[in-house]
Amino acid sequence: MSEGNLIYFHKQAVLNRVKGSKRPLVDNAYQMLEDALKAEDSQAIMAAYLYMGRIFLRAGEVEEAFRHMSAYRELCAKSGGDMDWLRYHQAHFELYQFTNNGTKVMGTLEAIMKLGEKMEKHNIVGDAYLQLSHILLEEGDHNAALEAADKALQQAELHERQSEILKVRGKLDKAEAQIGLWNFSDSELLFEEVKTTAALDRLFNEKTRFYELRGAWFAKQKKYEEAFDAYTIAKEMAESSKDLEQLKRIQEERCRLCELIGDSKLGFSVQKEYIALLTEIHHNELAKAAVKMEIQHNIAEYERRANTDFLTGLYNRSYIETTADEWLRKAAVIRENLVCIVFDIDDFKAINDENGHLFGDEAIKLVSQACSEIFREEDLVGRFGGDEFVIILKGASLEIGRKKAEQLAEALQEVQLEKEGGAFTLTISIGISDNGAGAVKTFKELFHLADTQLYKAKQSGKNRIIVS
Ligand code: GH3
Ligand code: MG
Repeated sequence: MSEGNLIYFHKQAVLNRVKGSKRPLVDNAYQMLEDALKAEDSQAIMAAYLYMGRIFLRAGEVEEAFRHMSAYRELCAKSGGDMDWLRYHQAHFELYQFTNNGTKVMGTLEAIMKLGEKMEKHNIVGDAYLQLSHILLEEGDHNAALEAADKALQQAELHERQSEILKVRGKLDKAEAQIGLWNFSDSELLFEEVKTTAALDRLFNEKTRFYELRGAWFAKQKKYEEAFDAYTIAKEMAESSKDLEQLKRIQEERCRLCELIGDSKLGFSVQKEYIALLTEIHHNELAKAAVKMEIQHNIAEYERRANTDFLTGLYNRSYIETTADEWLRKAAVIRENLVCIVFDIDDFKAINDENGHLFGDEAIKLVSQACSEIFREEDLVGRFGGDEFVIILKGASLEIGRKKAEQLAEALQEVQLEKEGGAFTLTISIGISDNGAGAVKTFKELFHLADTQLYKAKQSGKNRIIVS
């Protein structure tokens, strides 16, 4: 079996795990990515990675979701604009919500608000404030929730094409917060506004929530019969949209209200409905709990991998940049010498073209394994992108750098790439430079020096090392 086939089987294994209606979506997403890679269209590749991240998340495949979102972030770091980063944060918000990581959820919301405001994307900022107000309502912090919902409404006003859904949701959040604060007349005003919204009939979920909140509003004022009627409308709507969580909440309230009203016949029939619902939820939750347990177990590992390149497991571009900058700052103070080795696979495009992109991926992995064998744990070894790699050696001379590079080139001569009808080896071109014992202070400068040598190596016939 060729290495390329391994990837194929990995994909097959993922596909086999994904059930039902999600499966064609995942299959389609793989196709999208393959087409984009083949066309070398970086925008399309990014879109495909993000799409895959989202689809996998919905299919409960958190590791795959994380992997593809990391690949997206790598491309963002290289050439992404504000909009690309905004999409990145939005996707991560979904990811952290799914994995129940409260701190990360707040962090991504802040990032969305900041970037959204800079880009004047008022609907997106407004949505982020709504998410925040929901979290605060759940925590019972009604004052803060009210403030967040107000901010959401302000954004809705600023948005060019008025977003009815944003406005209705903001008002409902405010109404819920006001009920929590016992401000019944303020919530009543908000209900009136929501009720007269022309678009309400189209906003099914919001309309359901309206009746649920209306029930809570009556109940808190001890108007139990009116409350029961409002909850009954909400129940019927929630039944048709199959929102089990909401339905459970509503039915619990209806049971409680029957007791308060003192209608035991009605209470009995509501109890029966409630028990049937619990059975349904129980089945659903068993399946969900199994997925969640695995997620909690794995998520720390995925986060650790945020610093690594998704294909090779080496450090990724953004990690190299920040770490090397830090190293260089310290080196400038203590006048330490650092060496930067940059290399790029020769004629890699042809390897891809002749054997397919997946085979190319395997070749990149084999090169990265050779790097891991030659360089030490304390060296900074990373994939800079595509077929280009960077290594930073601390406390080393140019001469040591050259020796290490020679070892790597020799080791690669031993690596056989097997394909039908034989095997072949690949070569690399290498450029090496140093920080002049502290004179070069940023990674950008240091990289540029080594990359210039690499360029010369390519120009003068490839498969060679040039040291500055
Ligand atoms: P040169 O000797 O001048 O380096 O020529 P080259 O053909 O290697 O050209 P270059 O380094 O400019 O292009 C590298 C190619 O690598 C471009 C792209 O098709 C491919 N590539 C980039 N990222 C990946 C990847 O993740 N996997 C695979 N299989 N190919 C990639
Ligand atoms: Mg190349």
